[in-house]
Amino acid sequence: MSKELTIIGAGASGMIAAVQAAEYAAELHLKLHINLLEKLPRPGKKLLATGNGRCNIANAGAAREHYYNAAGQNPAFVQPALQKFTQKNNLAFFRSMGLLTKEEENGKLYPMGDQAVAVLDCLRLRIERLDAALSLLAPAEVQELRPRRPGGFALKLAGEQAERRADAVILALGGLASPQLSNSQGFARLLQPLGLKATRLYPALTQVKIASSLPKALQGIKFNGRVRLCQPDGVCLGAAEGEVLFAAYGLSGPPILQLSRLVSHNFYEQVQPRPQTMELDLLPSMSAGELLAELQEHCRLPLLLEDFLTGILNKRLGQQLIKLLDGRSLAMPAASLSNTDLQRLAGLIKALQLPVSGVTGWERAQVMAGGLALKDFDSQTLAARRWPGLFAAGELLDICGDCGGYNLSWAWSSGRLAAKSAVEYLLNS
Ligand SMILES: Cc1cc2nc3c(=O)[nH]c(=O)nc-3n(C[C@H](O)[C@H](O)[C@H](O)COP(=O)(O)OP(=O)(O)OC[C@H]3O[C@@H](n4cnc5c(N)ncnc54)[C@H](O)[C@@H]3O)c2cc1C
Repeated sequence: MSKELTIIGAGASGMIAAVQAAEYAAELHLKLHINLLEKLPRPGKKLLATGNGRCNIANAGAAREHYYNAAGQNPAFVQPALQKFTQKNNLAFFRSMGLLTKEEENGKLYPMGDQAVAVLDCLRLRIERLDAALSLLAPAEVQELRPRRPGGFALKLAGEQAERRADAVILALGGLASPQLSNSQGFARLLQPLGLKATRLYPALTQVKIASSLPKALQGIKFNGRVRLCQPDGVCLGAAEGEVLFAAYGLSGPPILQLSRLVSHNFYEQVQPRPQTMELDLLPSMSAGELLAELQEHCRLPLLLEDFLTGILNKRLGQQLIKLLDGRSLAMPAASLSNTDLQRLAGLIKALQLPVSGVTGWERAQVMAGGLALKDFDSQTLAARRWPGLFAAGELLDICGDCGGYNLSWAWSSGRLAAKSAVEYLLNS
């Protein structure tokens, strides 16, 4: 008789798990039928939005130091999955589905055609081709999941009276980030009967809100800079570099998203959040000394203050910084700046301090920090310790990756490991 494997959630980890399980079962001559269940009308909606529609499909350097649990530690838990299914191996898997990839800066990998839809299409087409062994049901929301005696699981789908049964289940439900793209809201209630508990959850890889009117005045301006997240005592909590964008609410761009997990942790975890500051180096290519010397030279030019920084920084940004010097009028001549003014200006350019007031929240977050407690799962197989035949993969687990393709790397590697483990479990049970 054919065994039944149910995968709940047809996002990145669920779809790759389905393909991996079907192919591995065929290789082992295991008679297996897979049900891939998706709550939304179509699978993989979130994938289409990844990498601004380009899909940063993985990172060549995916390793433990790029992943965090809810407590902010780098969990050894990720190692078996990332080592058994390396990124090279994952890319070869995608290549076997017809998808070529290319590497850009900092190990970021993208589909060769720069389209996220290509990643979804190749998974979707492979799933369709495996239709003898694999059924994709969408929309199909799992509303109840409970263990059966003597083994296996019973599931209830929205709108269905009869229970379905499964010999093994892979939980690939994703997280709470961007609920408009992936509907994982009820996961805690669904998993409660199994005694699986989540850690504290908070939005990560998201924009940071600033309690100052300056970002609003600079809305739309981008610069390539260095960013440090600091405490009032000067302790640096984290640093990142890259393109920063000023927005009405505060700051965005890859380095800000990268630091947002630490901001979010502070605001969601603490009863009384500690004050934090974003310190921006608007001109990392020059040292403070070089910049001061340049500004002193600039004072000799026949310029008004409105154009004093125009040759160095974005014009509007430069003007706003001049205004921070005691509300100085932009109509005054450059020669009116004292040496103390120039030192203050250089200080603002090299370390502009902006008070942090939180993050923009779940709607705009790319990932969820926190998730199902890792102690309840075996990192070698991703099997639930308490329930034989139950496995988990992807963002649902308490794993949050850095910005730069690390989260999809985890979704592919963990999805494939959970699938391989589930097939081996079914073969031996
Ligand atoms: C805007 C945006 C851009 C991003 N860009 C990148 C990027 O470029 N690179 C990168 O590495 N990461 C990126 N990420 C993060 C990455 O997309 C996620 O980490 C990854 O998709 C997680 O995969 P997953 O399978 O765990 O969860 P998901 O992809 O969220 O899939 C979970 C699926 O389960 C379904 N589901 C939930 N509950 C049920 C239920 N009860 N019954 C049935 N189905 C259910 C959901 O509807 C969903 O489709 C981005 C995220 C966002 C939001």
